[in-house]
Amino acid sequence: MGSTLFDLTGRIALITGSSRGIGKAIARGLAEAGATVVLHGKDERRLAETTAEFEAEFGAQTVKSVAFDVTDAEAVARGIRTVESETGPIRILVNNAGVQHRVPLLDLAVEDWDRVLRTNLTSAFLVGREAARGMIERGSGKIINIASVQTDLARPTIAPYTASKGGVRNLTRAMTAEWAEHDIQVNAIAPGYIHTEMTQNLVDDESFNSWILGRTPAHRWGTTADIVGPAVWLASDGADFVNGQVIFIDGGMTVVV
Ligand code: NDP
Repeated sequence: MGSTLFDLTGRIALITGSSRGIGKAIARGLAEAGATVVLHGKDERRLAETTAEFEAEFGAQTVKSVAFDVTDAEAVARGIRTVESETGPIRILVNNAGVQHRVPLLDLAVEDWDRVLRTNLTSAFLVGREAARGMIERGSGKIINIASVQTDLARPTIAPYTASKGGVRNLTRAMTAEWAEHDIQVNAIAPGYIHTEMTQNLVDDESFNSWILGRTPAHRWGTTADIVGPAVWLASDGADFVNGQVIFIDGGMTVVV
């Protein structure tokens, strides 16, 4: 008999921002490990397309979906209530929804600063808080916050993103401080440069692309598939004593100058 350490059969996982990109890859990985996945996004049409794709792959019984804006506290509370009443208790939450906005600090509008902070950081607090209520009651749960190499590193033109992802690290620690005693493990995954819609313009930019290849010890862009193994591990019983950590999945970028 094989190991059941990473088996997620029957566990309900909500992955925010899973209509595309990294969130979609994580959702697929969790579904392959046996979880019932609740797909999520804001754009209902795109979410419906991804849901249909997953249903064809995994069956309608283990694929659900919910749409809400992660920056809207009331919509988040309603969305989590809907998932828990219609699908069941959320055992695994992946706070993945996020946006980028590239403008030099001196030209940055406060509305854009607020939007990035709300989408990348406040959302993890809002969705995490609502999901944790049930997890605390039941005395178990896994929360995975998606950080970034920008949790540790800055670059010109992405100040709100860098500030938000640094915040995700310390929010992960703050959640651990309050919820670890309820057998809830909260950790973060910090991806390096991953080829998705968010980074397509960077891949297309010849000089940025060659800078990435030179600056990454593994000499390549990450793929969404690279994030799946660590996500399945952190969602599983194999990570039951892993608390408050940030796991960098970056081809070595943050450890080599
Ligand atoms: P994408 O732009 O490909 O996808 C973003 C997802 O988030 C979509 O599903 C989108 O749904 C959802 N989303 C955005 N805003 C909201 C909102 N207000 N409410 C609900 N859903 C929302 O992003 P990536 O897959 O590239 O990135 C995913 C995460 O990984 C982000 O947190 C990002 O910061 C992080 N990351 C990405 C890296 C990369 O290189 N790509 C590197 C490091 C970290 P919809 O289409 O409906 O808006």
